[in-house]
Parts: sequence; C-alpha cells; structure tokens
Amino acid sequence: MRRAWIAILVAAMWSAATAEPANKTFDALISAYPDKIAGFNLTEIVWRDGARQALGPEEPDKSFDRLVSDASIRDMFRMRYPAFAPLAAPPEDFDPGRFRNKAFFDRLYGDCRKGEVAPDLVDVEWLPASWGHKVRIARRAADALRAVSAEIEKLPQWVRRAAYPTAGTYVCRGVADRGQPSMHAYGAAIDLNLDYSDYWLWQTHGATPLVWRNRMPPEIVTAFERHGFIWGGRWYHYDTMHFEYRPELNPH
Ligand SMILES: [Zn+2]
Repeated sequence: MRRAWIAILVAAMWSAATAEPANKTFDALISAYPDKIAGFNLTEIVWRDGARQALGPEEPDKSFDRLVSDASIRDMFRMRYPAFAPLAAPPEDFDPGRFRNKAFFDRLYGDCRKGEVAPDLVDVEWLPASWGHKVRIARRAADALRAVSAEIEKLPQWVRRAAYPTAGTYVCRGVADRGQPSMHAYGAAIDLNLDYSDYWLWQTHGATPLVWRNRMPPEIVTAFERHGFIWGGRWYHYDTMHFEYRPELNPH
C-alpha cells in the first residue's frame, strides 16, 4: 500500500516537473492570440473555429535545417527569445523566432498567395513627426506598431534616424535562403532603414562561421520588444533591420 502511494507521488511529481513548462509554453499562444486559439491538450492546439492542429513530435535531435524549413508548433518554442538582453553576438545557430510553423501562421493570418492576407492589412503612420509615411501592416499588429512608433519619436534624432525610411512591411514572398514564408508574407514584419542594416547573407554569402554585425541602436530594439515584436539582430543568422510581431515569444 505504501509503495503504491509512493509510486503515485513520484508520478505526480514527475508530471508536474515535465508538464508545467510545456503548459506555460502553449499558454503563451492563447495569451498572444486569444481571438483565435481556444486551448490545447498534450498533443494539439484547438482553434476557436474547432480546428485542431498537432503540436508535432518531440524530436530532440531534429537538425537545424529541418527546424528552419519544417518547424512544428512545438519547435517554435525551442529557443527562448532573450527580450531586453544586452545586444551581442548570438551563439551558433541560435535563431529564436526563425522556426515558424507555416500551417499555424497561414491559419492565423491567411495565405498571401491565395489573396487572404492583403484584405486585413491596415495603414499605420510610421513616425508621424520624423517621417510620416504610411506603412501597411496586419491589423493584429497595428496597435503594437503604433505604440513602437510613439516610443521611437521620443528618442534623439541620431538614434531615431535608424528607423526611417522603412524598407518594407508586407511582401508576399518567402525567406531568401529557404523559400519558407517570412512574417513579411503575413504583413506582420517591418524592415527599417537599409543604411543601418546588416544581414548575414549579404556579408558572407552563406560562409560560416558568421560574424555578427549591428548598427541598430539598442533603444530602437527595446521599443519594439516592449510591444511584442522580436528583432532579427538576436539571431545567429542576423537581419538587423528586421522586426516581426511574435507576441507568443515575447509577451507584452
Ligand atoms: Zn524583414
């Protein structure tokens, strides 16, 4: 009898130890997209329209290439995004946010190749006092982007300068090296001033190890990170003008 109780106790402790981090992880999806995601269980998430989508298998040895080209929902949370950390060169293949499940984002924003994304884009006036041009952004990310704009307007001119003119928001195309949809294809990303930009593919033509470079001021990175965006400069495969709206990885 006592042995049975110990077994139950151990089992309970084990499930608490293993299940809790996963639960917290998938809770972030509900918090980020409460209008779309109703819940989850051990194997799938449940969308509000009743659709169910597999979290994907636990694959501790999944290769980096497969994580980038064929990420499951589970894979999206493999690397914790280091919001507000000092700006520094990331470790090799540390790309938090680059593992995106295509089916998930197609369901969230629509598939741009089927014309499903463009109707839900809205105009945001970017830096109205400093620059004042409209950018097209997914409705879901628009309020956050307006809040970022207001914060950047308060920064000194020499810092603000890196944030305009913008180099693009919505584009119906894939990531340059993979052909997978980027967050630009969902209207949920913005590229800032090209003259302050560093991108791993431009500088190395794919040669490794990569040498991280950055000219994006930390104040601008912080302004975005305060509102649910993540920054491409925190990736080993860096893209320093690039910010994308990923509240599931960076709650705000
Ligand atoms: Zn970009």
